[in-house]
Amino acid sequence: HYKLMQYKRILLKLSGEALMGDRQYGIDPERLKDYAEEIKSVVDQGVEVAVVIGGGNIFRGVAGASKGMDRVQGDHMGMLATVINGLALQSACEDAGMETRLQSAVKINEVAEPFIRRKAMRHMQKGRVVIFGGGTGNPYFTTDSAAVLRAIEIEADVILKGTRVDGIYTSDPEQNQDATKFDAITFDDVLKRGLKVMDTTAFTLSQENKLPIIVFDMNTSGNLHKLISGKNIGTKVNL
Ligand code: UDP
Repeated sequence: HYKLMQYKRILLKLSGEALMGDRQYGIDPERLKDYAEEIKSVVDQGVEVAVVIGGGNIFRGVAGASKGMDRVQGDHMGMLATVINGLALQSACEDAGMETRLQSAVKINEVAEPFIRRKAMRHMQKGRVVIFGGGTGNPYFTTDSAAVLRAIEIEADVILKGTRVDGIYTSDPEQNQDATKFDAITFDDVLKRGLKVMDTTAFTLSQENKLPIIVFDMNTSGNLHKLISGKNIGTKVNL
């Protein structure tokens, strides 16, 4: 069945900020519902889906530290924020008719399974959407790093970074009208041109492990399905 699909196992990275929709803070239930529908459209095709979700809509450790809070304390709050978002996405996915598991990198056993690689892979083989919360479980890291780490661990074919822009541009398209979009670009070129795709730690980890990244617009309905079917949308970063 999934021979028609370009990818068999994907890791989808969603930022916390994306969950805000048009709000200033927190979670927009409509946006959550849209995301669940997008995910369902590829799960229904037999694609195995894992999701790493950010926490920026609730708390960022660096933001706390800039106001005098201890960085590690703030990062712990950020990690818990990703668990909150994970729970929200989990329930939206179940409402949409999918089976899911939430695995957390920080122990919170009454709320989520602990991250266990083999279990995560087994869930995916059974068609369950696995949501990874808690980031990497360590302060000073981001959920982009968590996304790359988990993608490598579970042997995902690709990491799909859903954003509100539709790919990687020569410069910030929201600032510069002349910016043009790349259909594909190499890891080396991204670094040479000083483009921002992910933070350096995450980006390097992806490069070293030959894990392609696709940046695409997750807020246009149908895009995830198009990508999985091999349509050339977004920008692919490859070796
Ligand atoms: N965080 C962390 N370790 C991790 C992942 C996340 O400490 O491995 C904390 C960190 O404080 C970060 C916050 O969780 O600011 C939210 O994650 P992130 O900023 O990556 O979320 P996004 O920008 O994707 O919403």
